[in-house]
Amino acid sequence: MNKAYTYDDVLLIPQYSDIRTRSEVDISGRLGDIPLDIPIISSPMDTVTEVSMATAMRTNGGTGVIHRYNSIPDQCDMVFDAQPNVGAAVGVTGDFLERALALCDAGANFICVDVAHGHHILMKEALGVLRTKLPVGYHIMAGNVATLEGFNDLADWGASSIRCNIGGGSICTTRVQTGHGMPGLQTILECARSDRSAQIIADGGIKNAGDAVKALAAGADFVMLGSLLAGTDEAPGVTFETTAGRKYKQYRGMASKEAQHDWRGRAASMEGVAATIDYKGPVRNILALLKNNILSGLSYSGARNIKELQAYAKFIVQTGASQVESTSHILLR
Ligand code: IMP
Repeated sequence: MNKAYTYDDVLLIPQYSDIRTRSEVDISGRLGDIPLDIPIISSPMDTVTEVSMATAMRTNGGTGVIHRYNSIPDQCDMVFDAQPNVGAAVGVTGDFLERALALCDAGANFICVDVAHGHHILMKEALGVLRTKLPVGYHIMAGNVATLEGFNDLADWGASSIRCNIGGGSICTTRVQTGHGMPGLQTILECARSDRSAQIIADGGIKNAGDAVKALAAGADFVMLGSLLAGTDEAPGVTFETTAGRKYKQYRGMASKEAQHDWRGRAASMEGVAATIDYKGPVRNILALLKNNILSGLSYSGARNIKELQAYAKFIVQTGASQVESTSHILLR
């Protein structure tokens, strides 16, 4: 059996750097035609991306995908109210085509075909239909996939960018409930071997800026974030406060019992959980910290942009003791 690694299993070896300040490092890119100052996309989840988050993501240089757990008019209103250059999610069955066409008319700059197991005949059929009905060249994000084969197939079926990683999300129980998945970093390393032009989105399991740097170094063009952005002012949902003064919001998987009950009235099988997450204030503060730490990360590899990072990156596998040493281990004493 092959070994497969995820973010905490590895480190990037620091290398000679002639970068004097973080301002010399550029992490901008383009998602299709959309210019992004930071390689960060917010997840299509009902506790992460609606109008406020999508707007804040654009204002701060990233973009967001408005979730699909709503009526078509409601989702289109959110897109219409949203800065330009945001995306919106659709499924692969039911009203997905009507929804995608309505979202495109409402001004969505890309759609995201959003299913748990994207390497699937329903994805193939959906992409086939969408490619013929949406304007030529329209950006279609799709996923999720765990393998190079999956990545290549989705690219061949018409995906412009592909969400990579199955079962790695912080609220995800797919691997526990189904026995299937692939460590997140390994998925990126595999998909980065593709000769297709589709862009790579490292989705799920990014816990900190260091994980984002590792994902980009492994070949991702962008990272997609749920938990790191949940709990902010812009995340949908109310802020609760305990009698002890702890402020928190809800963050939940879209396949959690709670989300399925709210959107479908019943839960069929659960592959996610609902959790509380500390209130974090404005998302711009979170994005500013992530950006600065990602810039520092590139500088440790001597890289001035993401392409250079991917060319220079040298990964090593950590031992268990090294993993402990890599954290603030005074807290463990
Ligand atoms: P996080 O950034 O680690 O919190 O992961 C967010 C990602 O988890 C999303 O972008 C989705 O790909 C994925 N996800 C969302 N809801 C669920 C779920 O209920 N089960 C499994 N994965 C999920």
